[in-house]
Amino acid sequence: MGIIADNYKRLRDSIPPEVTIVVASKTRTPEEIEEVISAGATDIGENYVYPEAFNKYNLLREKGHSVRWHLIGHLQKNKINKALSIFDLIQTVESAVKAEHIDKRAEGIGKSIIPVLLEINSGREKAKTGFPPDCSIVEEAIKEIERLNHIRIKGLMTMGPIFGDPEDARPYFKTTGELFEELKGIEPLNARMEILSMGMSNSYQVAIEERSNMVRIGSLIFGGRT
Ligand SMILES: *Cc1c(COP(=O)(O)O)cnc(C)c1O
Repeated sequence: MGIIADNYKRLRDSIPPEVTIVVASKTRTPEEIEEVISAGATDIGENYVYPEAFNKYNLLREKGHSVRWHLIGHLQKNKINKALSIFDLIQTVESAVKAEHIDKRAEGIGKSIIPVLLEINSGREKAKTGFPPDCSIVEEAIKEIERLNHIRIKGLMTMGPIFGDPEDARPYFKTTGELFEELKGIEPLNARMEILSMGMSNSYQVAIEERSNMVRIGSLIFGGRT
């Protein structure tokens, strides 16, 4: 076992078992991903649908690896069909309109259901997409998306502003965690608020303290990106 496997195992042992680790593997080779799968990783997150994620998915499938694939990068309209053919969870639905596009494509290719997370722009950053962390706005979007036959909302995802000191990210995680709880309490939403995806290599501990149950980790496992 190499250093990647060791890093994954150490991380896995250090956080609660109910927190899912999505291994963020953009720019990493299939061999690197195989090493982390051999160490027990069950969930792989990719940012670029085609060709990067598509090729890695097919290669690893051929080799018999069955893991769950998460789209954690922005989904372009012209990549929706390909995304539907490989991903188990699309974490980056940033508008009701995007959900409608996904629903239409799913219908077209005969895909019954695609689970999704709504992306929250928790820092209200101009350069980022996503719903503002505002309960009534997100609730309104959920009501629209719920009518679509091929989409199931499973929860929320946020990146939040990136800081050197993860404590600076806490307020954004806290806001998103509270939004998650608030939406859970609203009945009768057809959406199930089960997954709260937040926290990266330098911020996952703070994110877990603020209710995250899914962290997306890259550099802590693979080393820094070059
Ligand atoms: C790359 C990436 C991560 C992981 O970042 P690290 O700092 O390498 O852990 C998490 N989420 C998203 C959306 C990413 O693009």
